[in-house]
Amino acid sequence: MSTNQLLKPITIEEGNNLCVGGCDMVDLANKYGTPLYVIDEQTIRSVCKEYKKAFSKYEKVKMMYASKALCTSAISKILASENFGFDVVSGGEIYTVYKAGIDMSTVLFNGNNKTPDEIELAIKYGVGRFSIDNYHEVELISELSKKYGKTVDALLRITPGIECHTHKYIQTGQLDSKFGFDLSQIDSIIEHILTVDKTINIRGLHAHIGSQIFEPQCYADEVEVLVKEIARIDNKYNIKLDEINIGGGLGVKYVSSDNPPSIEIISDSIIDSLNKNIEKYGIEKPTLYLEPGRSIISTAGVTLYTVGSSKQVPGMTKYVSVDGGMADNPRPSMYEAEYYAEVANKKNDSTKEKITIAGKFCESGDILIKDIELPKLEAGDIICVYNTGAYNYSMASNYNRALKPAMVLVNNSQSDMIIYRETLEDLVSRDNIPGRLL
Ligand SMILES: *Cc1c(COP(=O)(O)O)cnc(C)c1O
Repeated sequence: MSTNQLLKPITIEEGNNLCVGGCDMVDLANKYGTPLYVIDEQTIRSVCKEYKKAFSKYEKVKMMYASKALCTSAISKILASENFGFDVVSGGEIYTVYKAGIDMSTVLFNGNNKTPDEIELAIKYGVGRFSIDNYHEVELISELSKKYGKTVDALLRITPGIECHTHKYIQTGQLDSKFGFDLSQIDSIIEHILTVDKTINIRGLHAHIGSQIFEPQCYADEVEVLVKEIARIDNKYNIKLDEINIGGGLGVKYVSSDNPPSIEIISDSIIDSLNKNIEKYGIEKPTLYLEPGRSIISTAGVTLYTVGSSKQVPGMTKYVSVDGGMADNPRPSMYEAEYYAEVANKKNDSTKEKITIAGKFCESGDILIKDIELPKLEAGDIICVYNTGAYNYSMASNYNRALKPAMVLVNNSQSDMIIYRETLEDLVSRDNIPGRLL
């Protein structure tokens, strides 16, 4: 089965306790404390290899990883060793990959309001591509690249009039989006860039049509829009764009009712459309860039929590509370995201009870999983929530002055800390009390 269609990491073993990457999850919880993010290296590498294989049917492909799903130094090292470049969206992400020793020419800087400081950092560190999103940014890039005596390679971020999410597929002439240029604005931005002292070199087009996508046709349609634009731009301006970046978005299986298409079904749909439209519109074969985030890292991650209190509302829900929640995983409270869980220390317990797993934060909406059947739980049990690799740590907060959890990487029965747990001292270290209050 395709890696993105799995509910759990590929190295799950079901002994008395649940194991991942050869490590007993109860031992991990004891050794590192909870909540704990656990990342399985083999799952990351296997999904990377699956992507590379599926897209090897097209001659010119560059794989990138959308860092915003999970950006840490160690994770960046793993992706770079699989020959992935990086799609980054902030100065913080640029600095993280730079400090990890990543080849900055493989990095694309994307975003709808890059600040002058972020643009300067990107130019200074030699980021390989800018995804140009708006006019304001063109002025800033032009000014700052002159200051550093550099030119900048860029893609134009466009909204192709296609938006696709799990259960929603919208195709219109125009999309009301904060990102990029509408198709009707492309000519004027190209003409504008051509007048800006030649500091910006337009290499191709960039688009991203959504996230948690289950519909291959969305990508096929997106590819056609991009190829058609490349042909039109060539005809009108005699500019040969040889890169198309189609973004990320491929879906994963959070719960058993999710049925994402395999990576290969998506790659076939993309490559068929690409070959067909290259011929139809008569352009040279461009380099195809992909930048998946969620589908690379989601399934590789699980979160361990310790069970504390519980409450049975008479005749209604039984709430079992854990020692984390919306501060380490905001997705359920933000957009009712669903997750699947098991009890790490009760693998062979066949008792069943329908409960709701609640977080510990001061919001009624802080519920991790509604109505799940698990073995009867007691304080001290270790719950393992699956598919938390993407958009969990990267969206974590210090709400209620929570300490951000540690993250460990597991592989071949070895576990290594890749993010240290925050301490109470870390928490107050940025605080300042003005002298007049002392
Ligand atoms: C968020 C984003 C991605 C990654 O999306 P996933 O759903 O995590 O694969 C890729 N490209 C761009 C431009 C994005 O904004």
